Amino acid sequence: MENKKLGFGLMRLPHKDGQIDYDETCRMVDLFLSSGFTYFDTAYAYEEGKSEMAARDCLIKRHPRDSFTIATKLCKLDDQSKMREELSVSLKRTEAGYIDYYLLHALSHRNIEAFDQQDIWGFVKKAKEEGLIRHYGFSFHDSPEFLDELLTKHPDVEFVQLQINYADWEANGIESRRCYEVARRHHKPIVIMEPVKGGALANPPKEGQDLFKAYDPKASFASWALRFAFGLDGVLAVLSGMSDYGQTLDNCRIAGNFVPLNEKEREILAKVQSMYAKSKEIPCTACSYCTKGCPMSINIPGIFKARNIALRNGALEAAKKAYEEAAKPGHGASSCIACGQCEGICPQGLKVISLLKECKAFFGH
Ligand code: SF4
Ligand code: SF4
Repeated sequence: MENKKLGFGLMRLPHKDGQIDYDETCRMVDLFLSSGFTYFDTAYAYEEGKSEMAARDCLIKRHPRDSFTIATKLCKLDDQSKMREELSVSLKRTEAGYIDYYLLHALSHRNIEAFDQQDIWGFVKKAKEEGLIRHYGFSFHDSPEFLDELLTKHPDVEFVQLQINYADWEANGIESRRCYEVARRHHKPIVIMEPVKGGALANPPKEGQDLFKAYDPKASFASWALRFAFGLDGVLAVLSGMSDYGQTLDNCRIAGNFVPLNEKEREILAKVQSMYAKSKEIPCTACSYCTKGCPMSINIPGIFKARNIALRNGALEAAKKAYEEAAKPGHGASSCIACGQCEGICPQGLKVISLLKECKAFFGH
């Protein structure tokens, strides 16, 4: 069964000599389109605008405008004058003419009051009337109750972007299932982000790997996660941040030959899900939203990744090596001055300060 829900996330594009590799990106884009997929996702803030520019040069200038849809995100929601400027920059950078899916980025109960004061809803409505955008929605990291409140207050919202994957389906703090059900109840198409949980589900715990491999030695671990997401009803796109041609090929094949999970496979997935529920790993998705504003330039996701290597497999030497690479002198876990910037922005709601203290205690500096 073919599945057209695969979406191309332009946030982790291939790099060469410190720049986005346009040749490789063009090949990936062409493969994606020729495989019958159409949804591309970028953001004003990805790679400081270079992602939107890559969308222009590798996609928009090279393919008919009606052969794809493009989504981008409004990130500065706390200042009315900057909103218009940001949308206009996104349109200029992409040269798309209009944005198909425009997202208010990362709404939560922590920021909504300030955003409401800036009339974000009036802004997107007007942009739609002016033909600058076709549809508006929001990306969301908060409770199902708050999602329900937002969608009740703003029934005109046309779609929502939610963090959904099998590991987070019942997880406290994310609650993928309940958020999904709220969106369905409000009849909103859903864009799924983090279907592979920032890559973590491509490398599940050892016992999970054994279960998957015993059932189907050929299937990649990521394919289990993608099939779970593809199998959900009411989904507009399942975003995968693609970073090389091989990964794009794999994703297109999984979606192109989509087979819904059968009962036995659902049982296996439920077992692995409970392994994640018991896991002590830090649920960082490596989105890097926290790093830009860190006054000590701490590579927070890199440090958490190193800690997770030890927590997942007890691979102490590999964890230490990863930590030394991530925690450059003066920028390790011990450099944190507890300013709290990262905790205010982390979509996963991580207690970064205390987690860094744990990392410092574990790695010794
Ligand atoms: S709390 Fe620590 S890690 Fe977070 S932004 Fe401040 S200095 Fe950086
Ligand atoms: S700590 Fe939070 S904001 Fe930072 S990379 Fe991880 S998930 Fe993203």
